[in-house]
Amino acid sequence: MFSFFKIDKIPEDYDFLDIMVVDIYGKLKHVTLPKSYISEKIFKEGIGFDASNYGFAKVTDSDMVSIPDLDKIYLEENDGMKIVHLFSDVISPSMGKFFDQYPRSIAKETLKNIKESKIADDIKMLVELEFHIFDEVNYKTSETESYYSVENPEGLGEGHDYPRAHGSAYHLNDPYDIHFHLRNEIVKVLENAGIPVKYHHHEVGIAQHEIELNFMSLVDAADNVTLAKYLIRRIANEYGLYVTFMPKPLYNMPGNGMHVHQYLEKEEKSLFVGDSLYNLSDLALSYTAGILYHSLSGSLLAWSNPSTNSYKRLVPGFEAPISASFSKGSRSAAIRIPGYLSKADTRIEFRTGDATANVYFFLSAMVLAGINGIKNNYDPVEMGFHSKGENEKEFPLDLKNVMKGLKKDNEYLKTFPESLINKWIEIKQKEANMIYSIPLPKEFELYFEL
Ligand code: GLU
Ligand code: MG
Ligand code: MG
Repeated sequence: MFSFFKIDKIPEDYDFLDIMVVDIYGKLKHVTLPKSYISEKIFKEGIGFDASNYGFAKVTDSDMVSIPDLDKIYLEENDGMKIVHLFSDVISPSMGKFFDQYPRSIAKETLKNIKESKIADDIKMLVELEFHIFDEVNYKTSETESYYSVENPEGLGEGHDYPRAHGSAYHLNDPYDIHFHLRNEIVKVLENAGIPVKYHHHEVGIAQHEIELNFMSLVDAADNVTLAKYLIRRIANEYGLYVTFMPKPLYNMPGNGMHVHQYLEKEEKSLFVGDSLYNLSDLALSYTAGILYHSLSGSLLAWSNPSTNSYKRLVPGFEAPISASFSKGSRSAAIRIPGYLSKADTRIEFRTGDATANVYFFLSAMVLAGINGIKNNYDPVEMGFHSKGENEKEFPLDLKNVMKGLKKDNEYLKTFPESLINKWIEIKQKEANMIYSIPLPKEFELYFEL
């Protein structure tokens, strides 16, 4: 096993400098430089690279400069090799400034935007990561064929379907929680990497697990989710196991969400605690209404749930939300006010998103939707968002429709350049068109003989 530690400064002694760059999908890409090539200049002026394969809209020359972020340094030791990893920011030389479509730029600008609004000076977020661990994954796709199967989930061979037989594997214990020790090992590495963790457990589904991170500010939350996903996959891989965060890997089984607990802060005091509904402040209610309003239009879902698979999770019966509603306790409301909190810890949990999102875009868009709700003094009860369990306003539950929503409703996305919004719509519509035009195996079962 490799070790991976967050460190404060570049060490004297190492073999490689690995610069991590985030692409439009939120995936970490990297470029690795041998120590012999490194000079002080690289830390100050960065290193040039060709961004044409990163998915962003081409508005300038695709030659970009990646500047290492010296607040985000990690040391990996692997088989005697010392590798220094760094997150980076991206400058566009032809624009003469930070590249405005770059995910970290947008998250940083969003935080600045909150401060400038004077409404708050920080936002704290706790992100929950749900994922499946599989022993073996076979999938092949071609233009006319799509086939996917998972063998032997969790190594439970024939006749060992314990979690399924009992309906729920939630908080499943040893010896059936066969990846308990693997999750412990993962959490140790995450903590060493400076990622604070609240807890981990087996989730409801077969082969499904959860790790909840702790509260962090916006940019740290996005960086740490990105790094955590990368590390979880790498550690599982060391054991020949496969991790997926995809929202619905198995039909008719619970899906994977990426819930976000959150509250705005001013001078280190929560602005969400108050004497209105559920111990929330009026500001927190307007923030809630902003998120629900821009989800209902499809616009926010275009960032929080940006895959065709996202909408296979958002179906009734699996604790995943399908409507723009909020309530205390309910796991099928898009926003839940957790029932287990003392008044001082009151916060909201947005339960809709999933990990196919670019987490920088998702968290930024969500906060901007909330802030817009505050600016407009939205009242979620008046707007019909308070869940009564009936007549709820259903989300547009389809990738094509949410992209149409984003096209119409994007005025509130102050830190997102138009070039990025248009590019996102273009690539996601293309994805949707492709998936919807592939005949599925199930369609053969239903229609072949008709
Ligand atoms: N797995 C559920 C989802 O898709 C959530 C379960 C839970 O409440 O933790 O969002
Ligand atoms: Mg969960
Ligand atoms: Mg949750």
